[in-house]
Amino acid sequence: MTAAFRLSGPRPPEGAVRQEDLRDLNLKVVFQRILDAGSPISRTELATATGLTRPTITRIAEELLAGRLITEKGVTHNGRAGRPRMGLTLSDRGPAGLGLDIRADGLAACVVDLTGTVRHLTFAPMPPTGRDAGAVLGSLIRMGCEAIEAATVKELTVVTATLAVPGPVDGGVVRIAPALGWRDVDAGTFLADLGVPCMVDNEANLAALGELYAGDDPVGSFLYVSGGLGIGAGIVLDGSLMRGARGWSGELGHVTVEPEGAACACGSRGCLEAYASTGAILGALPGATNGVVPGAAGDIFERINPDSLITTRAEAADPAALAALDRAGSALGIALSGAVNVLDIDTVLLGGSFALLSSWLTDSVRAEIDRRVLTASWSPVTVRPTLLGPDAAVIGAALTSIDQIRRRPTTWLARQS
Ligand SMILES: [Zn+2]
Repeated sequence: MTAAFRLSGPRPPEGAVRQEDLRDLNLKVVFQRILDAGSPISRTELATATGLTRPTITRIAEELLAGRLITEKGVTHNGRAGRPRMGLTLSDRGPAGLGLDIRADGLAACVVDLTGTVRHLTFAPMPPTGRDAGAVLGSLIRMGCEAIEAATVKELTVVTATLAVPGPVDGGVVRIAPALGWRDVDAGTFLADLGVPCMVDNEANLAALGELYAGDDPVGSFLYVSGGLGIGAGIVLDGSLMRGARGWSGELGHVTVEPEGAACACGSRGCLEAYASTGAILGALPGATNGVVPGAAGDIFERINPDSLITTRAEAADPAALAALDRAGSALGIALSGAVNVLDIDTVLLGGSFALLSSWLTDSVRAEIDRRVLTASWSPVTVRPTLLGPDAAVIGAALTSIDQIRRRPTTWLARQS
């Protein structure tokens, strides 16, 4: 005897699906096909691919064209000679996303269009007052406004801004960023002066998303680890960012590598950040501070580019620089081994400052992973620099800003009408 199958959730609505919902759904399906095609696709191909009628495709195409979400471009069908047919592809003159980032070598702003192409990328040094939240956010607002203007000149409309910060974020509030000396900074409210909706997120998460968008495997799994002012990790499993129960995963910089080791800016001891952050590596180089004490207020970032200073010393085979990088790489390898043992991830991407320093870090990172990861003897872990290098976080932030339009084109169209 079989029991009757009963629905346990809410009952589906009775009667027909609302006409507007169906129109929105069809529009989304067509837009997704154009997005996935990657090159111009004809209306006939769209009708075949979606099962929608040709008049419906024509109506949706008109709506998407009028909203500047797509544009017409010539395509030669099946390689046959003759007049090119007109195809539909994503517009590079429509909505755009803005990304902002605070990094070891200064501040960065980036605009990407709907196709994911970087259309504007600028850098600025830290403000003279160092890491003071008001000064840093004020500089970022200026850079953001300039980026929005530059986008407008290119017939792009910035829809959203996303700020990357080196620490856990709660809503728009940066709860703690030891590397910046920030605690409970309401960056989201501050950035309202940009005049577009703003999101604030952890820089390692955004960089990991940037790598995911830029890579060729949309369902890949990897651990992105970002070096710089602080150290963070973005965990991507099967193409999805794993944010944790409260959204604060990835604080690899505060994983203990030496229980009674060096003091960390977070108040604990022996954290990875105390050995492998840009400030920690620089602090291990005699005379490298150029008269400025790393970590103090009004610090190193006013006068030197710390990453280029380290690479210059390493390229000159300075023994102190090589020893500091070896120490940083070992500490990083120890922390990463714990993460790999827990998460079962086979690829580690070195990002941020670690991307610049990867040729000196990779060997010691790999040595620790080979020694400490249980499965490494028969299934080696890949350790390599990121595709986007130190710009991964700012590009990832900009891509995150535009992603909502790519997922929900109707929200943009509703704003236009
Ligand atoms: Zn710490």
